[in-house]
Amino acid sequence: MAGYTPMILQYLAIKEQAKDAFLFFRLGDFYEMFFDDAINASRELEITLTGREGGVSEKIPMCGVPYHSAENYIARLVEKGFKVAVCEQVEDPSAAKGVVRREIVRVITPGTVMEAKSLEGKSNNFIVSVGSISTAAIGMAACDLSTGELYVTSLVFNLDTLIDEINVYQPAEIVGDESLLTQLREQAVWNRPVLLTAREPMAEDKLRQQFEAAQLEELNDARYRAVSLLTGYLEETQKRSLGHVRTIRTYEPNQYMILDHYTRRNLELTETVRDRSKKGSLLWLLDRTQTSMGARLLRRWIDKPLLNRSKIEERYEAVDALYRNLIARDDIRAELNHIYDLERLVGRVAFGSANGRDMNALKSSIRRTPQLVELARQAGSERLRLLVDGLDDCSDLAEMIETVIVDEPPVSIREGGLIRAGYDDYLDQLREASTNGKKWLAELERQEREATGIKTIKIGFNKVFGYYLEVSKGSLSLLPEGRYERKQTLANAERFVTQELKEKERLILEAEDKMVDLEYARFLELRDHLALQLHRLQRLAEVVSELDVYQSLATVSAERRFVRPVITDQYNLVIEEGRHPVVEAVMEGVPFISNATSLRREEQSMLLITGPNMAGKSTYMRQVALICIMAQIGCFVPAKAAEIPMIDRIFTRIGAADDLIGGQSTFMVEMKDIQIMTEKATASSLVIIDELGRGTSTSEGMAIAQAVIEFVHHHIGCKALVSTHFHELSHLETTLPKLANACMAVSESGDHVTFLRKLIPGAASTSYGIYCARLAGLPDSIIDRSYVLLEHLEADASEKQGSVHDIPAVHAPAPSYIPVPEPELVFKETAAAVQLSIFDEPGAPAIAQP
Ligand code: ADP
Repeated sequence: MAGYTPMILQYLAIKEQAKDAFLFFRLGDFYEMFFDDAINASRELEITLTGREGGVSEKIPMCGVPYHSAENYIARLVEKGFKVAVCEQVEDPSAAKGVVRREIVRVITPGTVMEAKSLEGKSNNFIVSVGSISTAAIGMAACDLSTGELYVTSLVFNLDTLIDEINVYQPAEIVGDESLLTQLREQAVWNRPVLLTAREPMAEDKLRQQFEAAQLEELNDARYRAVSLLTGYLEETQKRSLGHVRTIRTYEPNQYMILDHYTRRNLELTETVRDRSKKGSLLWLLDRTQTSMGARLLRRWIDKPLLNRSKIEERYEAVDALYRNLIARDDIRAELNHIYDLERLVGRVAFGSANGRDMNALKSSIRRTPQLVELARQAGSERLRLLVDGLDDCSDLAEMIETVIVDEPPVSIREGGLIRAGYDDYLDQLREASTNGKKWLAELERQEREATGIKTIKIGFNKVFGYYLEVSKGSLSLLPEGRYERKQTLANAERFVTQELKEKERLILEAEDKMVDLEYARFLELRDHLALQLHRLQRLAEVVSELDVYQSLATVSAERRFVRPVITDQYNLVIEEGRHPVVEAVMEGVPFISNATSLRREEQSMLLITGPNMAGKSTYMRQVALICIMAQIGCFVPAKAAEIPMIDRIFTRIGAADDLIGGQSTFMVEMKDIQIMTEKATASSLVIIDELGRGTSTSEGMAIAQAVIEFVHHHIGCKALVSTHFHELSHLETTLPKLANACMAVSESGDHVTFLRKLIPGAASTSYGIYCARLAGLPDSIIDRSYVLLEHLEADASEKQGSVHDIPAVHAPAPSYIPVPEPELVFKETAAAVQLSIFDEPGAPAIAQP
């Protein structure tokens, strides 16, 4: 390091504290980056790379961004998954001896951004920590720093379970014990890019400053470690008090339905598989919330369906009341519309980043709540009444903001203009002095014009010279000698000061400086005062969000004709005229065909569904899963009636083209999923397998499919919907008492096939693969040839098949006959087009019974 200038040495010492981050090093009006940081940042941000003398022979690579636009650059880096350490000058450069002292004041990371620009209003931004001190359990904590929420749980030591739980939060960042992170790095598949950082836990005494002792004592060892790891990291990066992160909410994983990562994706709960957009997901359909905090809560409800019947009933009761009471619902929606994101406003107050406008947003939101509370009280729901009963409306805080802050404050809190007149006497006096001073200046300008006869003489101000009199070059000769002291020469004017002007300037500037300082101090006082009341505002935010979610669920339920399900602790799952809520919503002009479901312990709990591609099998199976999820989050369901048991877990295995992760084949992924299912499913689970066994050779696929079905039937006993294109498996119905065949009805007339979308008992006779191929526009020659080949193959197969139906149901050897090959087609035509043909044909033929 020999030879570097003192400043570069300082830089290097500070960089040591932020090795894994870009160091934004404040130099005057810029943040500069040096060495590798400069090279990398110039690439990532597309800014010019330059060099700086640093005391050694070679120039040091450097690039920089202006401090006033730094937020944008920081946001871009953080979005790309980097960390940024912001290093400020922490002493007044004019007072500094030698190099100005500098310190890192904050490290901004993907999981800890607070800047509104980088945060999506309608979703949380979680950072997760994982820790373990023994192989018995793993502790996990999830925190949204922008809202102050902190959830904590512990799990049995199992990596899959951990990954599922982490994925619920879709974190941007994970911190924790090195050994766990290493395992996660090797095995986990995340929904979005995640930054992993190994860290040490926080010292106990510090942790006790952040949380009440009682809260900490409730935590078991694993949870304590997770909280401690997380808080340690937050302190290390944020370097300030986090007054809004004070409540630890613990939960047991088994309080909620378990949905693994694939199932969440497959069922498109919060985003679609195709383009990962919210539009087209269940969340999109159900989200009629009016506030961002309501939208975030709804998402959390969808992420965590309940397993507690009375809690679910409570939600139904609230939704039901608003469902029936259109006026209350509309009024509540209208009120909610005026409420800002209280949670994030509170976060900014705690974080010290709230400005005058945030204060006023808080004020106006608080002022809306009494009406909202009244509406909730009157809505006719016990749950809503309890929710708002005794709610602290925080009106004193609104009043306080009202007294302190002007109606339209500026964005900046350091330039004055934000404290209301009448709040502080001294401030009022200073303002008076400054206004008088300005009046005096106007008067002086008039006098000077008169005295000199120069009409264009004018008073101006700049930061370097202060107030001046400006005289154009042409009029200079008219200016008398003596009184005027020349300050600055411009191209076509000269600037002067006079003794009088200098004296007044001092008074005005002093008053303004003092004013700005005083306003800032007063503002901070208000902010600090509010910071002590955050828990009250957080409670208010919670109530408003919950109310918002109820009205959202009630609004969709009413508009889409959903019904209140009956939730039971029994086994049976019975749905009358069920519909797929999202497919139904996006189909325009075509009726969605409803289908019943009846899975019962005593009769049949498993359906083996066959039928052609595009017939509606997977829509049907997903609809059953979605109805269960909707019921368990407290929403009404798309059906005529529904009896829903508590489903502890839903497994889905739905083949999708983009399953190819980490070089694994679709088949391997399928087998892995099935393995997890066999290990984890209980009798209370719901299993959904689409196209079981399709990724491998036909006979092997069929053998595995049969064995899996038998396993679920004999050993798990859960409700299951399995679709397959192996029609040959339909014989299982005769040997497995709880399994029934079902198929999607089609109607045939001549060579025309129409999908009726109705699930009917029995197995499909043929899969109409070739028919689909024709619809998809394959050349006639291929279609004709296919029919000929099919005939041959079928004849062949029936000869060899013999008594395939007699293969014993358990431990069956792989079938030895040649099965009918199935063209695997992805049919692109729209449902509407296919569907229309039902109505095209007058007197369409009866449903083709298999
Ligand atoms: P499969 O799984 O049998 O290949 P899908 O479930 O993917 O078929 O259904 C194909 C298309 O048919 C869906 O995209 C949807 O537009 C339409 N569809 C499915 N079920 C219904 C229904 N019950 N009513 C109306 N249209 C439906």
